[in-house]
Amino acid sequence: MSGQCVFCRIIRGEIPSEKVYEDERALAFLDIHPSTPGHTLVIPKTHVSRIEDLSEEDASALFRVLHRLVGRIQSAVGAPASTIGINNGQESGQEVPHIHIHVIPRSRSDRGGIIQGIARPQRHIGREELSQIAERIREHTADLS
Ligand code: 5GP
Ligand code: ZN
Repeated sequence: MSGQCVFCRIIRGEIPSEKVYEDERALAFLDIHPSTPGHTLVIPKTHVSRIEDLSEEDASALFRVLHRLVGRIQSAVGAPASTIGINNGQESGQEVPHIHIHVIPRSRSDRGGIIQGIARPQRHIGREELSQIAERIREHTADLS
Protein backbone atom coordinates (compact mmCIF):
# COMPACT_ATOMS: atom_id res chain seq x y z
CA MET A 1 0.00 0.00 0.00
CA SER A 2 1.14 3.50 -0.70
CA GLY A 3 -0.21 6.50 1.25
CA GLN A 4 -0.96 8.89 -1.58
CA CYS A 5 -1.73 6.39 -4.36
CA VAL A 6 -5.29 6.93 -5.58
CA PHE A 7 -5.87 3.21 -6.18
CA CYS A 8 -4.46 2.24 -2.76
CA ARG A 9 -6.88 4.79 -1.32
CA ILE A 10 -9.73 3.12 -3.24
CA ILE A 11 -8.63 -0.27 -1.83
CA ARG A 12 -8.72 1.21 1.69
CA GLY A 13 -12.13 2.75 1.04
CA GLU A 14 -10.83 6.31 1.52
CA ILE A 15 -12.06 7.28 -1.96
CA PRO A 16 -15.46 6.05 -3.13
CA SER A 17 -15.60 3.75 -6.15
CA GLU A 18 -18.00 1.42 -7.90
CA LYS A 19 -16.47 -1.89 -6.86
CA VAL A 20 -17.63 -4.91 -8.84
CA TYR A 21 -15.40 -7.67 -7.44
CA GLU A 22 -12.96 -8.13 -4.57
CA ASP A 23 -10.89 -10.94 -3.08
CA GLU A 24 -7.75 -11.18 -0.91
CA ARG A 25 -5.35 -10.17 -3.68
CA ALA A 26 -7.34 -8.19 -6.24
CA LEU A 27 -10.05 -5.59 -6.73
CA ALA A 28 -12.12 -4.56 -9.75
CA PHE A 29 -13.99 -1.27 -10.01
CA LEU A 30 -15.41 0.96 -12.71
CA ASP A 31 -13.17 3.54 -14.38
CA ILE A 32 -14.39 7.01 -13.43
CA HIS A 33 -13.96 8.19 -17.06
CA PRO A 34 -15.21 5.15 -18.97
CA SER A 35 -14.33 4.68 -22.63
CA THR A 36 -17.50 2.59 -22.95
CA PRO A 37 -20.19 1.49 -20.46
CA GLY A 38 -18.70 -1.15 -18.15
CA HIS A 39 -15.07 0.01 -18.51
CA THR A 40 -13.50 -1.73 -15.53
CA LEU A 41 -10.08 -1.58 -13.89
CA VAL A 42 -8.66 -4.75 -12.31
CA ILE A 43 -5.87 -4.13 -9.82
CA PRO A 44 -3.71 -6.08 -7.38
CA LYS A 45 -4.00 -5.00 -3.74
CA THR A 46 -0.20 -4.76 -3.62
CA HIS A 47 1.11 -1.36 -4.72
CA VAL A 48 3.44 -1.89 -7.68
CA SER A 49 3.66 0.27 -10.80
CA ARG A 50 4.30 -2.21 -13.56
CA ILE A 51 3.51 -5.76 -14.53
CA GLU A 52 7.14 -6.83 -14.27
CA ASP A 53 7.19 -5.66 -10.63
CA LEU A 54 4.38 -8.02 -9.60
CA SER A 55 5.15 -11.18 -7.67
CA GLU A 56 4.28 -14.37 -9.55
CA GLU A 57 1.48 -14.95 -7.03
CA ASP A 58 -0.06 -11.54 -7.64
CA ALA A 59 0.39 -11.89 -11.41
CA SER A 60 -1.48 -15.20 -11.34
CA ALA A 61 -4.17 -13.84 -9.05
CA LEU A 62 -4.68 -10.81 -11.29
CA PHE A 63 -5.01 -12.87 -14.45
CA ARG A 64 -7.33 -15.28 -12.70
CA VAL A 65 -9.66 -12.44 -11.74
CA LEU A 66 -9.47 -11.03 -15.27
CA HIS A 67 -10.34 -14.45 -16.69
CA ARG A 68 -13.34 -14.77 -14.40
CA LEU A 69 -14.66 -11.23 -14.89
CA VAL A 70 -14.39 -10.47 -18.60
CA GLY A 71 -17.31 -12.56 -19.83
CA ARG A 72 -19.46 -11.45 -16.94
CA ILE A 73 -18.76 -7.76 -17.55
CA GLN A 74 -19.59 -8.21 -21.24
CA SER A 75 -22.87 -9.95 -20.36
CA ALA A 76 -23.79 -7.28 -17.83
CA VAL A 77 -23.50 -4.44 -20.34
CA GLY A 78 -24.60 -6.39 -23.41
CA ALA A 79 -21.27 -6.07 -25.19
CA PRO A 80 -20.18 -8.84 -27.56
CA ALA A 81 -16.44 -8.23 -27.09
CA SER A 82 -13.84 -6.30 -25.16
CA THR A 83 -10.39 -4.81 -25.48
CA ILE A 84 -8.07 -5.61 -22.58
CA GLY A 85 -4.92 -3.62 -21.99
CA ILE A 86 -2.33 -2.25 -19.62
CA ASN A 87 -0.53 1.08 -19.96
CA ASN A 88 2.72 -0.30 -18.56
CA GLY A 89 4.97 2.63 -17.63
CA GLN A 90 4.70 6.40 -17.93
CA GLU A 91 5.93 6.52 -21.55
CA SER A 92 3.02 4.30 -22.59
CA GLY A 93 0.55 6.78 -21.13
CA GLN A 94 0.20 5.29 -17.65
CA GLU A 95 -1.09 7.98 -15.31
CA VAL A 96 -1.80 6.05 -12.13
CA PRO A 97 1.41 4.30 -10.98
CA HIS A 98 -0.43 1.30 -9.54
CA ILE A 99 -0.75 -1.41 -12.18
CA HIS A 100 -4.26 -1.82 -13.54
CA ILE A 101 -5.79 -3.83 -16.33
CA HIS A 102 -8.33 -1.93 -18.42
CA VAL A 103 -11.29 -4.04 -19.51
CA ILE A 104 -13.15 -2.02 -22.14
CA PRO A 105 -16.35 -3.61 -23.44
CA ARG A 106 -16.53 -3.22 -27.22
CA SER A 107 -19.08 -3.26 -29.99
CA ARG A 108 -18.87 -2.59 -33.71
CA SER A 109 -20.60 0.76 -33.27
CA ASP A 110 -18.24 2.20 -30.60
CA ARG A 111 -16.05 4.11 -33.11
CA GLY A 112 -12.93 2.67 -31.48
CA GLY A 113 -9.86 1.10 -33.00
CA ILE A 114 -7.63 -1.88 -32.47
CA ILE A 115 -4.94 -2.15 -29.84
CA GLN A 116 -2.18 -2.34 -32.48
CA GLY A 117 -3.14 1.20 -33.54
CA ILE A 118 -1.76 2.79 -30.35
CA ALA A 119 1.70 3.22 -31.95
CA ARG A 120 3.02 3.39 -35.47
CA PRO A 121 6.46 2.28 -36.62
CA GLN A 122 8.59 5.20 -37.89
CA ARG A 123 9.80 2.98 -40.74
CA HIS A 124 9.14 -0.40 -42.24
CA ILE A 125 10.42 -3.28 -40.10
CA GLY A 126 11.41 -6.06 -42.49
CA ARG A 127 11.89 -9.79 -42.04
CA GLU A 128 15.63 -9.50 -41.35
CA GLU A 129 15.10 -6.94 -38.61
CA LEU A 130 12.31 -9.10 -37.15
CA SER A 131 14.81 -11.96 -36.88
CA GLN A 132 17.39 -9.72 -35.19
CA ILE A 133 14.84 -8.43 -32.70
CA ALA A 134 13.61 -11.95 -31.95
CA GLU A 135 17.21 -13.08 -31.38
CA ARG A 136 17.83 -10.23 -28.94
CA ILE A 137 14.64 -11.05 -27.02
CA ARG A 138 15.56 -14.77 -26.94
CA GLU A 139 18.94 -13.79 -25.43
CA HIS A 140 17.12 -11.79 -22.76
CA THR A 141 14.76 -14.68 -21.97
CA ALA A 142 17.42 -17.41 -21.92
CA ASP A 143 17.33 -17.46 -18.13
CA LEU A 144 13.68 -18.52 -18.16
CA SER A 145 14.12 -22.01 -19.60
P1 5GP B 1 -3.84 4.89 -17.04
O1 5GP B 1 -2.98 5.09 -15.83
O2 5GP B 1 -3.79 3.48 -17.57
O3 5GP B 1 -3.58 5.91 -18.11
O4 5GP B 1 -5.35 5.10 -16.64
C1 5GP B 1 -5.77 5.42 -15.35
C2 5GP B 1 -7.28 5.30 -15.35
O5 5GP B 1 -7.73 5.47 -14.02
C3 5GP B 1 -7.99 6.36 -16.19
O6 5GP B 1 -8.78 5.71 -17.19
C4 5GP B 1 -8.83 7.14 -15.18
O7 5GP B 1 -10.10 7.49 -15.69
C5 5GP B 1 -8.93 6.18 -14.01
N1 5GP B 1 -9.00 6.88 -12.72
C6 5GP B 1 -8.14 7.84 -12.28
N2 5GP B 1 -8.51 8.24 -11.04
C7 5GP B 1 -9.60 7.49 -10.70
C8 5GP B 1 -10.42 7.44 -9.52
O8 5GP B 1 -10.23 8.17 -8.54
N3 5GP B 1 -11.44 6.53 -9.53
C9 5GP B 1 -11.68 5.72 -10.60
N4 5GP B 1 -12.71 4.87 -10.48
N5 5GP B 1 -10.93 5.74 -11.70
C10 5GP B 1 -9.89 6.61 -11.76
ZN1 ZN C 1 -1.22 1.97 -5.02
